[in-house]
Amino acid sequence: MAYKEPAPLIDKENPLESMMSRFNIAAEILGLDEETYNVLKAADKQMIVHIPVTMDNGKVSVFEGYRVVHSTILGPSKGGIRYDMNVHLDEVKALAAWMTWKCAVVDLPYGGAKGGIICDPTTMSVGELERLTRAYTLSMKDIFGPDRDIPAPDMGTGPREMAWLLDEFSKTVGATTPAVVTGKPLVMGGSLGRTEATGRGVMVSALAALAKLGMDPKATTAVVQGFGNVGSWAAKLLSEKGVRIKGVSDISGAYWNEAGINIDDAIAYKNVHNGRLEGFVGATPMDPADLLTSDVDMLVPAAVEDVITEHNAPFLKAKLIVEGANGPTSASADAIINEKGIMVVPDILANSGGVTVSYFEWVQNRQGFKWSLDMVTERADRIMNDAFEKVYETSQKYDIPMRIAAYVVSIDKVAQTYKYRGGF
Ligand code: GLU
Repeated sequence: MAYKEPAPLIDKENPLESMMSRFNIAAEILGLDEETYNVLKAADKQMIVHIPVTMDNGKVSVFEGYRVVHSTILGPSKGGIRYDMNVHLDEVKALAAWMTWKCAVVDLPYGGAKGGIICDPTTMSVGELERLTRAYTLSMKDIFGPDRDIPAPDMGTGPREMAWLLDEFSKTVGATTPAVVTGKPLVMGGSLGRTEATGRGVMVSALAALAKLGMDPKATTAVVQGFGNVGSWAAKLLSEKGVRIKGVSDISGAYWNEAGINIDDAIAYKNVHNGRLEGFVGATPMDPADLLTSDVDMLVPAAVEDVITEHNAPFLKAKLIVEGANGPTSASADAIINEKGIMVVPDILANSGGVTVSYFEWVQNRQGFKWSLDMVTERADRIMNDAFEKVYETSQKYDIPMRIAAYVVSIDKVAQTYKYRGGF
């Protein structure tokens, strides 16, 4: 039976509903009281702005931007800023809540937030992007702050945007404030190891999961969906551990090599071809709809939300899914995946290496001291492995899937802290 992906819009599930349905299951397991449930489920605040930016043609375009602070119970809120045409308030709300659970699962002293601007950064000039980023920063100046809310890169943003944000915020407060943002360029207070941190965490948690399944990385095959920062680093580091990456995909298509793709070659290729793999000779183009259902041991979805759905889940052949992206599996697919006995290292655990090293960056900025790469890597790997163990033990204790176990661990921590802090 050949599987074909249905048209994406018909199939899209609301990520906020996906997040809430898992939250509800975990809240039930924990026996969360109604008061705490109500506090944790809703975002603390949501800011919607309309930003006029003069484009290169002299005309003013108005962009809609968001910053959602989901929780500050554990500490200042933390989370990236996404530039994409599909940015939607419900998506930002889901992503902000996921940041709360993600920071809690790796035991960081942070709450969760997320920002986004509806724009297509691929069609904007550097000048337009700079003006947009500076204007967005200015409109969020009362939300951002090293002890309040600390942004970082997400899809469509990177160190360059974080540098503009730091500069603009510093001007408004009259003092250079590196700890207001993470994911900065190395020369201006960025941390060694931040660029590869999310992909590295994916690799570390994948190895931890393979060990639990009794699988040897050197005898494991995988596909990586998405070849941006997270996907390309995860693919590279997994292949260095001996995992055979048979397929990868990006916005230009999907590519297959039965003998294993040479990931260093693929990265070198995309670096000089506009960030895309199109035309890469080390693999053969394939139908992207078949990538996730191909015959491999491990899937690493590292692109966008809702790519594993009730429609393709019945056709999955992998034994393990390690979620590099936020929300790649829709809630409707959970039961099918569990039924098939596939182990999932969920997003809030698998991709938490990024925010972990963001936390190290923030600590270094506040210390005024730079850590070595070894120190960053060793500490981040330890945090990832400890978090994995804790989630795994919780899944065994309650006999629940890893995804729900990750929510249980995080919600329990935030709920306990809320009890100590109290309300009005
Ligand atoms: N955007 C990344 C994430 O979704 C990183 C967030 C951060 O470092 O604050 O985890």
